[in-house]
Amino acid sequence: MSAAAPARAPSVSWNGHAGPVVGHANGMDILSCARCGFRHAVPLPSPAQLAREYAENYYADAKPTYLADADADQRWARLFQVDRLDAIARALGRSAGTLVEIGSGPGFFLETAAARGFTAIGVEPSRQAAAFAQGRGLTVHNRTFADALAHGLPRADVIAATNVLEHIPDPIDMLAAARDQMDPGGVMCLTVPNDFSPLQIAAQDGKGHAPWWIAPPHHLNYFDFDSLEALLTRLGLKPVDRLTSFPMEAFLLMGDDYVADPATGKACHRRRMNFDLAFEAAGIGDVRRRLYGALAAAGIGREATVIAVKP
Ligand SMILES: [Zn+2]
Repeated sequence: MSAAAPARAPSVSWNGHAGPVVGHANGMDILSCARCGFRHAVPLPSPAQLAREYAENYYADAKPTYLADADADQRWARLFQVDRLDAIARALGRSAGTLVEIGSGPGFFLETAAARGFTAIGVEPSRQAAAFAQGRGLTVHNRTFADALAHGLPRADVIAATNVLEHIPDPIDMLAAARDQMDPGGVMCLTVPNDFSPLQIAAQDGKGHAPWWIAPPHHLNYFDFDSLEALLTRLGLKPVDRLTSFPMEAFLLMGDDYVADPATGKACHRRRMNFDLAFEAAGIGDVRRRLYGALAAAGIGREATVIAVKP
């Protein structure tokens, strides 16, 4: 089955969400929703069900080695944290102010943001991840974003969220609340997996794989650059910049089938880290940033980061 919607895809309607079915996994349909403007799973679990899952189980079950491994890749990951913070500073007009990260995980982005002059505050529902970050001296509220707002989270100049929107049943409500937590001139920086991307479609057609990126219930929403920008625009924000990371699907197109083999996936991840770090070692990190900027403009790259300003 193709991940792109065929001409006469069956349509599904659930609680006002409706559109053609573009995928199916784990008993859930993925539909290209006319109301939301992006692809998402139905039926959606309740926010309360999800809150329990992410408070106790996510880092313990879905990501058992993530907290232990997070340090190892940090030299590489910091490149992209700095890219995002530079883009935020350009949009904001300064590298200072209160930055709130929703879903701050182990806190590495907060640490990098603080080192660059921001007052960095994390919101993280996972008890394990919040404790890890607090243990490194970071300010992290161990709550959902909605709970943190109800408990006096300060106004923000910047709100960032990386790999959060794809997990939650109510991303539009969350983004609206985040927008309202900023004054005019505030900057939002959102990063999501870039899904149903041209390279995924090409790799899927070549390999005959089922669409491997469809993973409900952990991934409920599927964005690309265009649908993320459209959502931000609908919420009254103005998208001003796009960033991305290495287009991992290029490995599939070149014959490295990491979908079939996790060990190949690890090797591909090491190779893309080598690729990115080589530019920095040669003192030409600006070339990597321009390369990825050009890919993002074409809708390509493993992640879609969009920077948007509140007018
Ligand atoms: Zn919808």
